[in-house]
Amino acid sequence: MAHYLITGGMGFVGSHLAEALLTRGHYVTVVDDLSTGRFENIAHLTSHPLFRFAIEDIMNETVMDRLVSECDVVVHLAAAVGVQLIVNNPTHTIETNVLGTHAVLRMANRYRKRTLIASTSEVYGKGGRFPFREEDDVVLGPTVKARWAYACSKMLDEFLALAYWREQQLPTVIFRLFNTVGPRQSGRYGMVIPRFVGQALCGEPITVYGDGTQTRTFCDVADVVRAIIGLAEHPDAVGQVFNIGSTREIAIRDLAQLVKDELQSPSEIVFVPYDKAYGPGFEDMQRRVPDISKIHQLLGWKPEISLEETIHRVARHMQQTGQVPVPVPS
Ligand code: UDP
Repeated sequence: MAHYLITGGMGFVGSHLAEALLTRGHYVTVVDDLSTGRFENIAHLTSHPLFRFAIEDIMNETVMDRLVSECDVVVHLAAAVGVQLIVNNPTHTIETNVLGTHAVLRMANRYRKRTLIASTSEVYGKGGRFPFREEDDVVLGPTVKARWAYACSKMLDEFLALAYWREQQLPTVIFRLFNTVGPRQSGRYGMVIPRFVGQALCGEPITVYGDGTQTRTFCDVADVVRAIIGLAEHPDAVGQVFNIGSTREIAIRDLAQLVKDELQSPSEIVFVPYDKAYGPGFEDMQRRVPDISKIHQLLGWKPEISLEETIHRVARHMQQTGQVPVPVPS
């Protein structure tokens, strides 16, 4: 059994990862400064004998020195996430993503700990070729558009992690998460599925941004966590970059209809111009689809949970946690 340290472990993906690792009998420590993470995400784990947590900034060297020295594997998820947050707080995004990852890698290197770094499909930028493969060229927008700060900061994280492997033989693995969805994801930062499901369950208008022809693929967090653990355990993953995501591509306007149908919602679907949703000059990504053959070849991994099932999992969680009204049985 191994001891995992998860930075950002009180966030959406981190809390699911902690749970899955505990189920497999591993020891888990999470560190999170609660900037976007929530204590409620791990509250149910606090009495588990193999679990412990620290509410702390990953830039705190004293605490991180101790936590990293005591673990076997670091999974670095702490980052500024969500397009809305990034557009609103570009300074915070750049500082957290670049300085935070640098601090984690330096500490991991001090104790020679295997480290997994979370990256993002945003690094493919506007892309040119579909589906996105790990070694494709990238095309980003200009620096005057705040959105691209996220992709750029994560690319720097990737360069740094690969450099630590090449120059110092620190065993690092990079995974690029495509749209990841499931229970506990918050709609506060703009994420589309919790927003649509919440709107559908409340009978409010479902807000499609732009004309809704932009596409995404949505992978259930339980599948994503399985992939991360597979990469953490496989010796040949080291020094490499892997896509993690679903390959079922869906236009956002079709997603709105699917959510409405699955949840039998009376909500109307409305179209909101990008400028109104994100402020003037926002650039969205028209298409985003991963090629997952690399991780499939290494681990035999592919997603197993359907989008329909995820929509119901999210809806159930929202109802159980009182975020939306629960319908009275007729
Ligand atoms: N979106 C939308 N309505 C919303 C929130 C998001 O139409 O209420 C769109 C958004 O413009 C994007 C897609 O849904 O095209 C996915 O957005 P999200 O923020 O979940 O992730 P992204 O892929 O942009 O990182």
